[in-house]
Amino acid sequence: ATPTALMVGTGRGAQLGILIKGPEVLESTRRVDTIVLDKTGTVTTGRMTLQTIHTTPTTTETDVLRLAGALEHASEHPIAQAIATGATDRTGAALPTPEDFTNIPGLGVQGTVDGHAVLVGRPRLLTDAGIDLPGTLTAALTEAATQGRTAIAVGWDGEARGVLEVADAVKDSSAEAITALRALGLTPILLTGDNRAVAESVAREVGIEEVRAEVLPEEKAHVIEGLQAQGRVVAMVGDGVNDAAALATADLGLAMGTGTDAAIEASDLTLVRGDLKVTADAIRLSRRTLTTIK
Ligand code: ADP
Ligand code: MG
Repeated sequence: ATPTALMVGTGRGAQLGILIKGPEVLESTRRVDTIVLDKTGTVTTGRMTLQTIHTTPTTTETDVLRLAGALEHASEHPIAQAIATGATDRTGAALPTPEDFTNIPGLGVQGTVDGHAVLVGRPRLLTDAGIDLPGTLTAALTEAATQGRTAIAVGWDGEARGVLEVADAVKDSSAEAITALRALGLTPILLTGDNRAVAESVAREVGIEEVRAEVLPEEKAHVIEGLQAQGRVVAMVGDGVNDAAALATADLGLAMGTGTDAAIEASDLTLVRGDLKVTADAIRLSRRTLTTIK
């Protein structure tokens, strides 16, 4: 009876839009008590748009957009796409091609544009490089944070020049999904590389109380290990390359089908449509399949 029950489970899973890597992955679902959710692209749509632009008094908006947009055009990060698209739309001109480009995971991008050494990313990317943000720009960071937006700092040739506000919307179904996960007895935790104010604003909107923010990609797996060390059995839901190690470390890894191949490969289950509500269905289904097997 065992193989039949498993086939029913995986077949029903396919109908719900859940791909199960192998029946053995279901074993851990019974004991899962904690669910860690990546923010960008998992709880939120990940479709960011460029909002307000702040500059220092001696810098023009066009220069900030042109140099930041040119670098971001070379990156696949959702924030990068928002900045590149926003820059093209607002300047009405083609972006220059960077002379060189480096992606710094969880922090931003770095490269040379029009002969300038440009940095675009978390404010920390600039401060780590010894570039302080002047008062006009730190005020912009505060403004962005109070509105739940992500602030991206832009600097070149050793000086901070601007702050770009980028916003992302929570998925329509996220709050309902969190309620369904709680009903299954799971404690949700929001995990993100984004800043604390943005993370807390998203958490509040969907009903999550526990937030781990400003976590670098390589630290995401450590957060999972820390929870496991407390005796918790942890499921993780994510979509990005930066989530892959955490997905593999978790007792149960769930990837958004709309996410990257790296996330899907590192996971036990894939939610084909990228709908967070299906996470609860997946856990309920695998628990029920196991009951049938016993
Ligand atoms: P998340 O954990 O929410 O999916 P990431 O770990 O990918 O986010 O990124 C964390 C933070 O690093 C972002 O919120 C952003 O501030 C910054 N960042 C990462 N990549 C870029 C980029 N290409 N351009 C600008 N900022 C970036
Ligand atoms: Mg993500």
